[in-house]
Amino acid sequence: MAAPSVSVLITGANRGLGLEMVKQIVEAPRPMKKLFACCRDPDGPRAEALQTLAKKHPDIISVVRLDADDLCSIKQCAQHVGSLVGTGGLNLLINNAGILFRKTLQETSPEEMQKTFNTNVIGPMSILQEFLPHLRSAAKACGTPGMSTSKAAVVNISSTLASMQRIQQTYEIIPAVSYRISKAALNMLTMCAVEELRKDEILFSLLHPGWVRTEMGGEDGEIDVQESVLGMCDVMASLTEKQNGAFLDYKGNPIPW
Ligand code: NDP
Repeated sequence: MAAPSVSVLITGANRGLGLEMVKQIVEAPRPMKKLFACCRDPDGPRAEALQTLAKKHPDIISVVRLDADDLCSIKQCAQHVGSLVGTGGLNLLINNAGILFRKTLQETSPEEMQKTFNTNVIGPMSILQEFLPHLRSAAKACGTPGMSTSKAAVVNISSTLASMQRIQQTYEIIPAVSYRISKAALNMLTMCAVEELRKDEILFSLLHPGWVRTEMGGEDGEIDVQESVLGMCDVMASLTEKQNGAFLDYKGNPIPW
């Protein structure tokens, strides 16, 4: 039997890891119904590369405005996506958008902490809440038991910097206090979703992309976007109910909490 075609949504899809995810997912042999590539400013200069890519795959890629800091844009995006996916629902939601301030505890301002929380925690929470009906539809439409990213899943892009057990190895390299705290909160948000939505057969997973050469990762990053996304796509394709709530790196290795 042919694999079912899936609908996927990616936030922060105009550059960095998000843009590379759109590229690799649309070019993968896996049948694709719709790929919603979300960004803050679809018509602005920072979305040019994404728009060029979307023009090559007009039937699949849909560039949609979504600002993780703006609940109104999240609701509008969810409504738009719902009208396109219908009862088939949304199979995979990737919360990739994120921000980072490279500041120590003593340098971090309350405003930076608030801003980081807005984008990295409250954004993904609101996105999950608004897209939940579409994820539930996808789980129902699938009709087979179990969990997978072809059925209904949320992948939250986290970071090894959220790992409390690894802090002694990572703190001096990148303190980024507000970012660490926000990603640790994202991890807990994900575990709450695991508990609350297990009965809906929606899979949740946390992925660390590696230290990647993007605007956020900087030039000293250990790997390029292609390698990171290739790894993350393989990991996402392999996820089952056994990895529900897992915190994994781009090679599929578990990260200690
Ligand atoms: P980049 O800084 O290169 O890209 C960040 C993306 O997030 C951009 O598309 C940006 O859009 C978008 N974004 C930022 N704020 C918002 C917002 N409020 N609403 C919608 N989109 C927003 O980062 P990376 O590609 O490197 O990072 C992607 C994810 O991977 C992040 O969650 C990050 O924390 C995580 N990560 C990255 C690592 C790395 O080494 N690079 C390591 C570990 C985790 P815009 O152009 O509009 O600013």
